Amino acid sequence: MTTSAGLTTAPYEDLAAAVRGNLIAPGDPEYDQARAVYNGMIDKHPAAIARCRDTADVITCVRFAREHGIEIAVRGGGHNGAGLAVWDDALVIDLSLLRSTTVSPQNHTVRVDAGCTWADVDHATVAFGMATPSGFLGSTGVAGLALGGGIGYLARRFGLTVDNLLAADVVLADGTFVTASADSHSDLFWALRGGGGNFGVVTSFTFRCHDIGDHGMIIGGPVLYDLADTPEVMRWYRELLPSLPEELSGWIALLTIPPAPPFPQELWGRKACGIVWCYTGPHDRADEVLEPVKTFGSPLVVGLHAMPFNVLQGAFDALYPAGLQWYWRTDFFNEISDEAIDVHVKYGAQLPTGHSTMHLYPIDGAVSRVPADATAFAYREGGFAGVIVGVDPDPANAGLITQWARDYWEALHPTSAGGGYINFMMLEGQDRIRAAYRGNYDRLAQIKQRYDPDNTFHICQNIQPAGGPNP
Ligand SMILES: Cc1cc2nc3c(=O)[nH]c(=O)nc-3n(C[C@H](O)[C@H](O)[C@H](O)COP(=O)(O)OP(=O)(O)OC[C@H]3O[C@@H](n4cnc5c(N)ncnc54)[C@H](O)[C@@H]3O)c2cc1C
Repeated sequence: MTTSAGLTTAPYEDLAAAVRGNLIAPGDPEYDQARAVYNGMIDKHPAAIARCRDTADVITCVRFAREHGIEIAVRGGGHNGAGLAVWDDALVIDLSLLRSTTVSPQNHTVRVDAGCTWADVDHATVAFGMATPSGFLGSTGVAGLALGGGIGYLARRFGLTVDNLLAADVVLADGTFVTASADSHSDLFWALRGGGGNFGVVTSFTFRCHDIGDHGMIIGGPVLYDLADTPEVMRWYRELLPSLPEELSGWIALLTIPPAPPFPQELWGRKACGIVWCYTGPHDRADEVLEPVKTFGSPLVVGLHAMPFNVLQGAFDALYPAGLQWYWRTDFFNEISDEAIDVHVKYGAQLPTGHSTMHLYPIDGAVSRVPADATAFAYREGGFAGVIVGVDPDPANAGLITQWARDYWEALHPTSAGGGYINFMMLEGQDRIRAAYRGNYDRLAQIKQRYDPDNTFHICQNIQPAGGPNP
């Protein structure tokens, strides 16, 4: 156990002695690395970072923080755009050492420690020809993504991540431990499926898995078009998507073609409109199902290949490493209207940096078959989750990417369904959090009052306990 001279305001030596993990404090050699998160814009200075080794460490940290009046931040994968895994002067409960997975091929489940990334989970399940719905990237943390909703390649076919959550082990605000599932603490289980980090520290998740592709081999990759083709591609995509079998999903993007293989060198740096497809059905039907997406228009690149599902999941990880400047804005959309397409054309032409991009992810199929009040995740009636992402390695461009994303969002917001996905939000205020949960907010506030009346877990997209804020 490490102790530190930098810890002065609370008896952190006691905490250091009580836990099996490392307590990292200002002045320690690992401090700057331990407080860094995925978004390079975030520069928080916690009082201490506890790298927990087990659930007992988490319980000890929660009790210590409560006893000494210290704010708590919780770190899963550290990927949150708003940087909510770290906070000035807080005790960070860092779960990144908890990385084990246990697959049950018989039960089609995987049990996942809360410090895992999705790459850890996909690695574990694809070996058995299975996957559980997650996102579109391997490096994202399981915990934050799973608690906020989880929108990914498998959503059309198998639902959101929260729709495949079977149980969660949770350390509550008073330091007690419960397992939430449909049969146990079902109110908490409802809230955890979209309610984010508001209700406790989840130490492990159990997810349902599904057989995908040919023993985990799927067919996927990007099809890219000239940026000038954006209106035609978007109109075609919005008409085509509902007619496709749910084994095929694809998200549409405006982007700059990365200056790296496998993209042809003559296209490097060119702005484009693209769709990244993922087909998880039987391979003997693939030619027929993929025919329309291969033959439409005049693509610059048709990069569809058979690959293990986890390879597609990890395909963009290297393009977006940790430490880039990151500012994004989000909304849900019931449709891609002609008015919205005009906005995309305008701001797509102004992509401010090579990493900056806009994505629309389908919210349909299995996601829409779940009633809006069945889990905390509220936007299910069909459409898209949109995200406008300003990204660049250079801190000098932070203002540029932020302004572009804000302007684009302001112009597009009138075409939206009203609220955004909490996992794609920055710190945007209480009205935006309410809008994200719509009719589910009041029930969430009641459950928050039951499980965390003092709002111990408020460093998140915060749902305030019913009966008034109690920060
Ligand atoms: C490059 C990139 C790609 C992404 N792609 C997708 C995608 O395809 N689909 C999608 O749905 N989302 C996606 N996201 C959004 C992602 O879901 C959120 O950023 C999410 O917060 C990441 O989870 P994390 O564990 O890494 O977060 P962290 O930054 O560690 O934490 C985020 C929030 O969750 C809380 N939290 C973390 N761990 C726990 C825990 N164990 N118990 C309780 N609360 C906890 C934290 O307190 C914090 O409030 C992406 C994000 C990035 C940056």
